[in-house]
Amino acid sequence: MTSGSCPCGLPQAYEACCGRFHSGGAAAPTAEALMRSRYCAFVKGDVAYLLRTWHPRTRPGRLELDPGMRWTGLEVLGTSDGSAFHTTGTVEFRASYRGGSLHELSRFERVDGAWVYVDGEFPA
Ligand SMILES: [Zn+2]
Repeated sequence: MTSGSCPCGLPQAYEACCGRFHSGGAAAPTAEALMRSRYCAFVKGDVAYLLRTWHPRTRPGRLELDPGMRWTGLEVLGTSDGSAFHTTGTVEFRASYRGGSLHELSRFERVDGAWVYVDGEFPA
């Protein structure tokens, strides 16, 4: 990662990238942007952001992050729908952490205009 880039992997500084969404100053415009900002929230340990961007139908009552988890990178492998013209979308990604990686196909929906995470599956 180059210095100054956002933990989600995009070249912008955190404040100009996922930080805008974490602070509530802006809403993620696409499912991919929301997914990146949620990965970034895992990196930052921002539980409140993770919960408020979770679909009310599938949101856990509480969320505890493993403090020993060290996320090391995010790679978006593919997306479908999830733009301003859609109400649902999917993002397939690989998130790496020290000692392994997570490959997930996540589903997103818009609730009151804002993208939220619904659930995910783990492709073979
Ligand atoms: Zn970012």
